[in-house]
Amino acid sequence: MNFDTQILHAGISGDIQTGATLTPIYQSSAFGRNSAEEIERIFNNKASGFAYTRISNPTVAAFESRITEIEKGLASVATSSGMSAISMTLLNILSSGDELISTTSVFGGTLDLYNDLKNLGIKVRFVEEITEEELSKVISSKTKAVFAETIGNPKLNVINIKESARIIHKFNLPFILDNTIATPYLIKGIEFGADIIINSTSKYINGSSNSIGGIITDSGNYKWSAEKYSCLNEYIKFGKFAFVARLRNDTYRNFGSCISPANAFLNLLGLETLSLRMQRHCKNAHTLASFLEKQEGIRSVNYPSLKSSDYFEITNNQFGGKGSGIFTIRLYTKERAFEFINRLKYAIIITNIGDTKTLVVHPASTIYAHSDKETQEKAGVYEDLIRVSVGIEDIEDLKEDFLNALNYINKEYPL
Ligand SMILES: *Cc1c(COP(=O)(O)O)cnc(C)c1O
Repeated sequence: MNFDTQILHAGISGDIQTGATLTPIYQSSAFGRNSAEEIERIFNNKASGFAYTRISNPTVAAFESRITEIEKGLASVATSSGMSAISMTLLNILSSGDELISTTSVFGGTLDLYNDLKNLGIKVRFVEEITEEELSKVISSKTKAVFAETIGNPKLNVINIKESARIIHKFNLPFILDNTIATPYLIKGIEFGADIIINSTSKYINGSSNSIGGIITDSGNYKWSAEKYSCLNEYIKFGKFAFVARLRNDTYRNFGSCISPANAFLNLLGLETLSLRMQRHCKNAHTLASFLEKQEGIRSVNYPSLKSSDYFEITNNQFGGKGSGIFTIRLYTKERAFEFINRLKYAIIITNIGDTKTLVVHPASTIYAHSDKETQEKAGVYEDLIRVSVGIEDIEDLKEDFLNALNYINKEYPL
């Protein structure tokens, strides 16, 4: 099955009993069984079936099975949010005293999470880029994984996944990749060597911002050892399923990070149109970004598929020239940035991305408000920068709207 067919038919599809074309919402907390013996077998993983929705649920399982096939993984676990997907992944493999290496340009919430990990005795060391030289500087016997985003948010730097995987594996570490901005429409990270894929489904997968959710997909390719990952000790016997076995039976279950069946249903529904929406998001973003690049009063436009981007070449090679739906612009001053945002007619002022509607935000005063200036700048956040998540509206309306706002600030707040 190719991608556009997979998003409609892969994994568990519809409902066999009734012929319903969509997997029903099994809005039930628990599942009754015919005998004490049966529930014993299910509860102890000796038989398949459902017992309690915090552990597993048929609607959630349908969503997980479809994502697993799309990502070409071994198994997936859907979570209550993208942040929960990240925290559960890290807590599943890291113990107190361990270290994680992360790129600097990651989502603001992920940076905040790293501070929480510090309180648990887990240290995060940063690299600007995944190169052998940079990794060598921060790696130690305590290092247990490397974390990066395919397209950094909001720096919009693009990682060469194949090359990164090669380097990370040279150090015998697992490569955890947050693919939220690129989505499996642009790239399936496992095919390029990433070991664990994280998607915040709240964004493009859901597509119309109606539910928060996340999903973890394990490739099953990394060889976990009990000596290096003490918390996986009991699960090493499951071989390539070790990571997912601990996640499902322990970390995810005990931290209680399950997604609701209703949200899993909405994600399945959103997923059906991911390809069509992404085509439009990419096209609109490219058109609007290159249009703005030609105007007066803009310090810079940053979008991966523009010729002016440092990542133009890798965007071409890795994503076939598509750059996802997000670009940033710098307008010289915070005042101009604020006035520009306030002047836009269609763009919603909001800390979100990946909606069908165009969204705009000033990251420095919102998502990155808790980070110091140095951290902000390493993540590509500046006082005069605004982030635009381009929707699927008519492009002529968007061009007109952005041009009007720009003309206004150029006139009222001249440089
Ligand atoms: C939004 C986002 C997250 C967090 O996802 P939530 O569903 O909001 O918890 C993680 N990583 C990236 C790249 C994101 O854009």
